[in-house]
Amino acid sequence: MIPASPGGTWGELASSLKQSLDYDQLTNCMRCGFCLPACPTFRETGIEAESPRGRIALMKAVADGLMDPDAAFETQMNHCLGCRACEPACPADVKYGQLLEQARSSIEMHTKTHRWWVKTLRKAAFDGMFPHQGRMRLLGGALQLYQRSGLRKLVRGAGLMRLFPAPMREMEAILPDAAYKGVVEQIGAFHPAKGDRIATVGLFRGCIMDVLFTETNKHTVELLNEAGFDVVIPDAQNCCGALHAHSGEQEGAKSLARRNISAFEAAGVDWIVSNAGGCGALLVEYDHLLHDDPQWSGGAAWFAKRAVDVSKLLVEHGLLQASVQTAVPVGTQGAATARVGASDIGSTASSPAGGEVLAADPGRRGSCGGSNGATPPAAAVEMVRITYQDSCHLRNVMRSSDAPRTLMRSVANAEFIELAESDRCCGSAGIYNLTQPEMAGQILDHKMEQVKRTNAYYLLTSNPGCLLQMKLGIEKHGMSGDMQAVHLVDFLHERICVR
Ligand code: SF4
Ligand code: SF4
Repeated sequence: MIPASPGGTWGELASSLKQSLDYDQLTNCMRCGFCLPACPTFRETGIEAESPRGRIALMKAVADGLMDPDAAFETQMNHCLGCRACEPACPADVKYGQLLEQARSSIEMHTKTHRWWVKTLRKAAFDGMFPHQGRMRLLGGALQLYQRSGLRKLVRGAGLMRLFPAPMREMEAILPDAAYKGVVEQIGAFHPAKGDRIATVGLFRGCIMDVLFTETNKHTVELLNEAGFDVVIPDAQNCCGALHAHSGEQEGAKSLARRNISAFEAAGVDWIVSNAGGCGALLVEYDHLLHDDPQWSGGAAWFAKRAVDVSKLLVEHGLLQASVQTAVPVGTQGAATARVGASDIGSTASSPAGGEVLAADPGRRGSCGGSNGATPPAAAVEMVRITYQDSCHLRNVMRSSDAPRTLMRSVANAEFIELAESDRCCGSAGIYNLTQPEMAGQILDHKMEQVKRTNAYYLLTSNPGCLLQMKLGIEKHGMSGDMQAVHLVDFLHERICVR
């Protein structure tokens, strides 16, 4: 047992934790240990305190007044990836993620141990950037300038990157091309369904997604249109608040959630679609985030019920018959058809006749909203081997691991290989790879050992953080010539829309 420290900062933290931790959840844990093998930090260290059970025991000891928290307590909470792989493994349904957020929220109010650059970066990002769309656009513009003007070459050539901590240097090296204009600025806010309309969906465009992965947002719109959805992109939406919530900035997360609820309610949408597991996982938990706010709890429940990942919406509610077979695998004849789509569409939308999957209109084949349908690029028609790294939050919180696989298996000319331990976190975990680089690097190395074994060309994933981490892994392990990390939506778009 960690000895109690007298009063001061630790004493304040202890009081704060006693107030914020949900005691029912702490006592729900029956110490069975089923969660241990699922936990990446326990697997890496074998230390009980680095496991879900160990962390819950530490929190309960503080709540019971048996110990005051200290630096070691903080370290254990900070070492947790927040991947929530422990939750599906738990027979007692302990809401570990909620306990972690409560603990981190208290720590954030009283900590004295953050490194200076972590503190500075957090403050700048959480308060100064993410909540402000205009500033995110400016950041995108500045990054675009840096990347395309030759400045990057100059900075690297002069060795100036050495002034930054290693995790930031590594991240800079794999950042995709940034954009000054986001999805709305580039293609507008409303996009009608192709053919019969099933429902109206609101695209959650994200903050980092819309600066660094604007093309993925555009491709998401086109796939949704192809699958029969009107798409609106409410302009008043903002960052989801996930990074805030996972880092203990609860009030910041709540304020962002309120603004998103207003924006999507005003748009009158049937579904709210996310293409980033990390964002989506908070969107479906807005009801929990705002459960004690009488003014907003109703709106939060409305929002959470409608939030869904794009892959799940396409598979379970969409109508998408993708005639993606534009090239013939060696040794076969004729064109096959890959079907992705499904049947019942819930109470908020009308069902197509007989629940049949609609055929794509030959008149619009190859368009998918933007492509001219001309000769497909070789990359879109060659037989490829693909594999998939789960986004932890998509899998463990949104409980959506089947839908991405259904989509990947439906694509012609693509051989899907399951990645061993794809359900284990890649080490990205929001900004974990920046704040806990040693553990993140260790986890990534083990991940890449498994990735190598697949011999896949495309390593697909469904979250920007995971995607950047996979790009980093490919780079660090010298696999750039043999493999590409790509968002699942971009891969589907290439195979379905570009033909
Ligand atoms: S959230 Fe992930 S890292 Fe944290 S205790 Fe659960 S399984 Fe372990
Ligand atoms: S599986 Fe659940 S009940 Fe069992 S030790 Fe882990 S958190 Fe506690």
